[in-house]
Amino acid sequence: MNKVQILLRQHVGAPCAPIVAVGDKVKKGTLIATPTGLGANIFSSVYGVVDEVLEDRINIIPDAEQPDEYECIAEGDHLQMVKDAGIVGMGGAGFPAGVKLSADLEGGYILVNAAECEPGLKHNIRQIEENVEMTIRGLKYCMEIANAKKGVFAIKKKNEKAIETLRAAIVNEPDITIHLLPDIYPMGEERAVVREVLDVLLEPTQLPSAAHADVCNVETILRVAEAIELRKPSFSKNVTVVGKIKGGNEPHVFFDVPVGTDVETLIEMAGGLDEEDGPIGEIVMGGPFTGKATTPDAPITKTTGGIIPTIEFPDLHGAPVGLLVCACGGNEERMRDVCAKMNGKVVSVAECKQAQRQKNGSLKCENPGNCPGQAAKVLQFKKDGATDIIIGNCSDCSNTVMGSAPKMKLRTWHMTDHIMRTIGHPLYRHLTVSKHVDQLPNGK
Ligand code: SF4
Repeated sequence: MNKVQILLRQHVGAPCAPIVAVGDKVKKGTLIATPTGLGANIFSSVYGVVDEVLEDRINIIPDAEQPDEYECIAEGDHLQMVKDAGIVGMGGAGFPAGVKLSADLEGGYILVNAAECEPGLKHNIRQIEENVEMTIRGLKYCMEIANAKKGVFAIKKKNEKAIETLRAAIVNEPDITIHLLPDIYPMGEERAVVREVLDVLLEPTQLPSAAHADVCNVETILRVAEAIELRKPSFSKNVTVVGKIKGGNEPHVFFDVPVGTDVETLIEMAGGLDEEDGPIGEIVMGGPFTGKATTPDAPITKTTGGIIPTIEFPDLHGAPVGLLVCACGGNEERMRDVCAKMNGKVVSVAECKQAQRQKNGSLKCENPGNCPGQAAKVLQFKKDGATDIIIGNCSDCSNTVMGSAPKMKLRTWHMTDHIMRTIGHPLYRHLTVSKHVDQLPNGK
């Protein structure tokens, strides 16, 4: 096992402060860093010896033997156990779960985000198929802690096996229902989940608690059950490895990967890089839309969902490019990275008009996945001399770009094209799926 690198910032908030020193022996579940403000406890994910304590991480040399046992958190109040266990939003957001669940929902809703919206990722759906009972108990603990009367699984209609598994498991759970989502991007954005399930459109600055709801990723609620029933600290992560891997591009789902495991180890576990029919374009950590390029030695964190080695990028031969940035896709930095790898030259940048700049500098969409029309942005690119545009938009907006860009003789690329081609997924261009789905009778 390679060196394990545990980052001190794996959550929304400030980096944690180390409480171990070089040479300390640690076990699986040993507390090694604690919050300095908003944050969550960080634990060793292996038995081993602390090798380095750096500004941003603690490096541990693992022992040859790795017993299954771990150091347990203290028994007590359920909310305190969630806090002690260092659980954060595991869908990628990383917000400390103990802080989120401490708000009183006054009889409202826990909405379980099982959209698994990023194409190619399968670990959330596989979790439901293989561990539904504990997942449902996790939901019930969250409902109890946050004073919610109702629990709703928000899941895409295409996941028939997982939906059947859930339906069978909630037959005797009158307060738990299923809401079906269309297979478009982005249905997993938390205000999109609130809108789809509760028919409430929140402002970008509002939290789901404004609708008496918490949106919790499906893996997060499983970790809540583990903390309360097994007294297990958060030191492992479910991950999908998919892409240019020997043996084909079927997703490889790994449950309970020790946090701090490097990308190369995960790729080897999946079969190794397939470089027979051409070199790797890049390795993405995360999903196709919101992930970023990474390196083989980078460690996974509590929020890592996917590892995706891709085929090579197309070559634009220095063509002038306009970038259209979406609040729910890659940011401008990531889109510039993709453009550079495509050998394009950025001559114009625009943000979707529904993308609102927040105080912290990030973008949030006013109404995720419902396009306001993109013709004006496309016209801007044409005026600025672009021959090509790279878009990072949602399904709906990509569809509307295709209504205007070809007429203006602009070639359109989506920033996820090389990933979609790698995993055998349709490219984001024309919307072929209805934005609405019929619900199951009685919400079940
Ligand atoms: S409407 Fe615009 S900002 Fe919102 S999800 Fe679609 S492309 Fe992104």
